[in-house]
Amino acid sequence: MARIVMKFGGTSVADLELIRMAARRVKAEAESGHEVAVVVSAMAGVTNQLVDYVDRAAKLFDLREYDVVVSSGEQVTSGLMAVILQDMGVPARSWLGWQIPLLTDEAHGNARIENVDTTDIVRRFADGQVAVVAGFQGIDPHGRITTLGRGGTDTSAVALAAALGARRCDIYTDVDGVYTSDPRIVAKARKLDKVTYEEMLEMASLGAKVLQTRSVELAMKHRVRLRVRSSFDESPGTLVVDEDEIVEKAIVSGIAYSRDEAKVTLINVPDRPGTAARIFGPLADAGINVDMIVQNAAVDEKTTGMTFTVRKTDLERAVEVLKRQQPDLGYGELSADSNVVKVSVIGVGMRSHAGVAQSMFKTLAEKGINIQVISTSEIKVSVLVAEEYTELAVRSLHTAYGLDAD
Ligand code: ADP
Ligand code: ASP
Ligand code: MG
Repeated sequence: MARIVMKFGGTSVADLELIRMAARRVKAEAESGHEVAVVVSAMAGVTNQLVDYVDRAAKLFDLREYDVVVSSGEQVTSGLMAVILQDMGVPARSWLGWQIPLLTDEAHGNARIENVDTTDIVRRFADGQVAVVAGFQGIDPHGRITTLGRGGTDTSAVALAAALGARRCDIYTDVDGVYTSDPRIVAKARKLDKVTYEEMLEMASLGAKVLQTRSVELAMKHRVRLRVRSSFDESPGTLVVDEDEIVEKAIVSGIAYSRDEAKVTLINVPDRPGTAARIFGPLADAGINVDMIVQNAAVDEKTTGMTFTVRKTDLERAVEVLKRQQPDLGYGELSADSNVVKVSVIGVGMRSHAGVAQSMFKTLAEKGINIQVISTSEIKVSVLVAEEYTELAVRSLHTAYGLDAD
C-alpha cells in the first residue's frame, strides 16, 4: 500500500464522460489498496472564460476578486469528481483550498504555497476515503482565496505529494509524456522516457507548458517522483528524475519556445555609470520582470542602446514606466515590439560540450532567421526572433540537433 497523488488537467476532465474515465483510474488505484489524493483542474476552457469575464468587467480590477472568480472552475470539477466516485462505490470527499487548508502568500493571481496541512486528509485516508482536491487555489494569511498562476494545478499536486510523502505524483494530461519539443508544432518530436529535474525546469520556464515551472521546482526540492502520462492510454509516460538516473545523456534534450515575450528598445541612452540601474530599478519597483538584456557598445562614447524583454502582458505597463522616467534617463527613442518569440535549446550535456550555441546560430542563419537578442546559461541557449518564424526555427533546430523521431 502506498500514498499516491493523481492530477488531472483540464482536457482530462473536460466533460462528465471524461471525468468518469478519470474516476475509473482513481477507482483502480484505490481498489489496489493505495491511499489516493486526486487533484483536478477546471474543465478545459473554463478558466479562460472566467479570466475573460473579469477582464471585461472592469479595466482595473482587484486581484483578490479575480481570484474569487477564476478559482471557481476547480470547485465545480472537484465536486463532480467526488459525486462520480461515490456513484462508483468509492468513498470520496472534495476539498477546496481553504478547507485543507493550503496556505499561500498574499500574491493574488500568482500566489506561492507556504504550507499544506494534510492532517484531515490523512485522517480520512484511514477511513478508506479518497481525497478530491480542487487544484490552482489556496488561502492567504487573511483567509482570502488565492490562485497559483496559470497551470497551477500541477503545483497543487506536487505540493500535496510532498506534504503527504507520496510515493508518486502522476500528472495525467492530453499528451503521453514530455517530448523533445511541443508535439503540437513539431510532428517529429520524440517522447522522453526520462528527463532530469533540471532540464524539465528549464523547459517549463522557457515555455513548455506541460508542467508549471513551480511544480518542477517543488518536485526537485522535495524529490517528488513526478510522472507525466496520458489520460487516454496506458503508456508509461515520462519520469522526471535525478541526473544520475539517466545513463545516456544527450547533449541537447529539448527545444522550447515562448510567445509570451515582448521586446523593448531604448535608443540614444546617455552612457554613464548607473544607467542600467535607472532603467531597471523602476521596472522592478513596478513588479515587472526583465528577462533577456543586451546593451550595445557606445559608438560615440556618449550614448548607448539598451534592448530587453518583458512578459507580453507587462509590455504596456513597462512602456508607461519608461516614458515617465524619460526626463531622468534622457534616452532618445523608445520602441516596443510584441511580435517576437523566444526559442531555446536545452540540455545538461551542454556543460561539457562546446559548440551548441554555434550550431544554433548557424542553423537559424541558414534559414534566413535573424537573431535579435541572445541569452545563455549553463544548460540552455535562448534567442529572440520574429514571431512568424516560430515553427520554422523550432523545427529546424529539432532536426539540426538530431532530435527528430525516425
Ligand atoms: P493540462 O490541461 O493537462 O494541464 P496543458 O495544456 O497545460 O495540459 O499541457 C499539455 C500540453 O503541453 C500539451 O498538449 C502540449 O501541446 C504542450 N507542450 C508544450 N511543450 C511540450 C513538451 N515538450 N512535451 C509535451 N507537451 C508539451
Ligand atoms: N485551471 C487553471 C488554468 O487553466 C489551472 C490549471 O489548469 O492548472 O490555468
Ligand atoms: Mg497544465
